[in-house]
Order: sequence, then C-alpha cells, then structure tokens
Amino acid sequence: MTLSSELFSQAKQYIPGGVNSPVRSFSGVGGTPVYFDHAAGAYVYDSEGKRYIDYVGSWGPMILGHAHPAVIDAVKHSAEKGLSFGAPTEIETLMAQTVCELLPSIEMIRMVSSGTEATMSALRLARGYTGRDKIVKFEGCYHGHSDSLLVKAGSGALTFGVPSSPGVPASVAADTLTLTYNDSDAVRNTFAELGDKIACIIVEPVAGNMNCIPPEPGFLQTLREVCDQYGSVLIFDEVMTGFRVGLQGAQGLYGIKPDLTTLGKIIGGGLPVGAFGGSRKIMEYLAPLGPVYQAGTLSGCPVAMAAGLKTLELINQPGFYEDLTAKTAKLLAGLQAAADQAGIAFTTNQVGGMFGLFFSDEKSVSRFSQVMACDVNRFKQFFHAMLDKGVYLAPSAFEAGFVSAAHTDEDLQATVDAAAEVFKAL
Ligand code: PMP
Repeated sequence: MTLSSELFSQAKQYIPGGVNSPVRSFSGVGGTPVYFDHAAGAYVYDSEGKRYIDYVGSWGPMILGHAHPAVIDAVKHSAEKGLSFGAPTEIETLMAQTVCELLPSIEMIRMVSSGTEATMSALRLARGYTGRDKIVKFEGCYHGHSDSLLVKAGSGALTFGVPSSPGVPASVAADTLTLTYNDSDAVRNTFAELGDKIACIIVEPVAGNMNCIPPEPGFLQTLREVCDQYGSVLIFDEVMTGFRVGLQGAQGLYGIKPDLTTLGKIIGGGLPVGAFGGSRKIMEYLAPLGPVYQAGTLSGCPVAMAAGLKTLELINQPGFYEDLTAKTAKLLAGLQAAADQAGIAFTTNQVGGMFGLFFSDEKSVSRFSQVMACDVNRFKQFFHAMLDKGVYLAPSAFEAGFVSAAHTDEDLQATVDAAAEVFKAL
C-alpha cells in the first residue's frame, strides 16, 4: 500500500509531469492523480486499496468492464504462444473479417497500434488518394496528436488551453482548416471556396473530446454531400464511438456511410490497437499494393487481436446495446433529478453508452462555445467530491464518460446517491 502522492512524486523525477499522457496528471481538475493498482468489472482499486466505481473505463475500451474473465483468458492463451512475430498471423485476418462484417462501409482494414496512428495514416491515405493537401477538421474534436491534427485540438490540449502545440510546423498547420462542429453552413461555404483543394473531412461523428456532443440532425449528411460533390474523402474518426454507441458505431446509428473509418479503444479490448479501413478502392492505394506508405512493427500484434476479438464477440449479443443505453440513461436521469433538487444548473448528453455532464444553465449543449462556457470550477469541485465518495469520473470537464456492461443497478444508484449529496454541498 503506497500513497498515490508518493508514487506521483517518484514518477515526476523520471517522467515529464509524472505521466505518460497529460490528462492523467489531474491538471484539468487539480490535486494528485490516483494511482491504480488493479480493476475488476465496474471497479478500479487504487494503490491504497480504495475502491471506485469507474466511469472512465480506460477512456472507453472497457465496455465489458475491467478484466473480463473471457478476455483475460484469450490474452493468456495467446501470450503463451508468443507475444509478437512481425509476421502475418491468422488472427489478424479473423479480426479484419469481423470488423468488415460488422461495419458495411469497411471493405478492407489495416491494424495499427493506437488511435493516433490510425488517424494519421487515414489522412495520408486520403491525401495520397486525392492528390490534395488540405484537410478539414472541427474545433474541439481530437484525433490524436499527429502534426496535422493537433490544430485546435480537444481533450488534454483543451484542458491546458493550448489549442495547438509548439513543434507543429506552421506550414503543416496551414493545411488544416478548422471549422465549428455542427455548423453545416461553415462546411458548405468552405467547400464552395476551397473544395477542389480539400483531401478530406475528418470528424468525430459524436464529439467525445469536448465532453459529449452529438451531431445535430443534418450535420453528418452535409459532410457526406460536400465530400461527394467535391471528390473529397469523408473520414469518420470512430476511435471512441466505434462499438460504443452501437454495434455499427455512429455510422450505423445515424445512417451515414463514410469513405474511411478509424477505430481504436474497444477493438483492442484494452490493449494498444488502432485501425483504419474503408472502401476497397481507397484502401488499395496502400503499400504494398499501392503508392501510399504505411507500416508498423507491432501492428496486428496477436495478443492484442485476441483481446479485441473476444471483446467484439461478447458485445455482439442480442440486447447488449439496448441494456448499455438504458443503464446510461438511468444514470443520467438520476443525476439530473439530483441536480434539479439541489438547484444546480446542470445538463447532460448521451449517445448509447457514452455521456457528458455539463455545469451549465443551457437546456442543451451542442456547440463548442457552449462547452467552453460551462462552469469548470464547479466541475472540479464535483469531480473531487465524487472521488472522495468512491466514484471515478474523467478528470477533465472536456471528456466523455463511459458506462460498461459490468455496472449494476446498485452501482448506478450508489453514484446517484453520492452525487445527490455532493450537489447539495456545492
Ligand atoms: N481519435 C479519437 C476520437 C480519440 O478519442 C482518441 C483518443 N482519445 C484518438 C483519436 C487518439 O487515440 P490514441 O490516444 O490511442 O492515440
């Protein structure tokens, strides 16, 4: 049993900021990050043995709950056969086939090791395929930290108020056009002016890195239409939404077919996996078939494939998403009622098993500017008070939350009860 504060002090000597990914440092909420020791089902346990009901789920992958026995068994079984080979394995094809069968827009897919790699590779492919350089993204959307995409990024970069980062060459950022999420007119106007220079639009079809913002009716349809009209590639970044908001991701939920899709998180079952896929015509531009280069030593690592495939098998069950969505709705209804009773200005968003909490007096939040206007200080107080009561929420006002299949009614009720006390004290 070591105190998190001691572990953090030691880490800071050797790791910049003590963490391997900035948002983990609690700089979004202040205080000392909690060091986790182990997890099971809906719970994470810190280095001091305290249990928390977890709504982060490793930032999304743990849709079945932590350390699901069948996933752990699949990993053990695969690990015993060797960790990686840098050569083809049968399980990579099984994974590719499974994803292609689940997501009709994907005819071919390539595995990588992170979401960042997936989006970076999809951009290169879109640029190579169209022979154009400019890309369109949306303010508050985060697509990993590659240079072209770290322009007005969301997530950790928002938390720090650093919309783009030193080290990203101005010449690279110049080709990234950043528009307002859910503003269809801005998209049409930009394409009217520059459409024949735009390689692609990349979008989180449900924005999950500026809290949780669903697309307004017609927004994704507009993106599809302008891409068709101007010969640009539509990329849905479903690293977060893929297999989270439904078995066919946001594209299935909203009925829009992207040209390319990026995936991550859930398809790795918690191990480092990303992927990008789409129409055969575009994917065949990739080496070794085509001219666009892309590669990875650990891409398709069999242990990660085993974790991901087992996860995909277990979520592909009748009623799985209905249950997850109902649980999430129940949690949010409870939180909303508790906030209303305490007179706290509060609203929520939900898409499937993904949610957002906003300390805002707006009735609904659908724009980046509304997210930025929320009461961050109140969120920080709420976060820490919930943490004290054994509920682990994302340590940032700009991140989505996740419910897993392992959360029981008792867990949800305990969370609402804790929040009711906290709201009253705010
Ligand atoms: N795209 C989206 C939508 C994401 O949410 C993230 C990470 N949260 C990424 C890309 C980058 O993934 P990774 O952190 O695995 O590089």
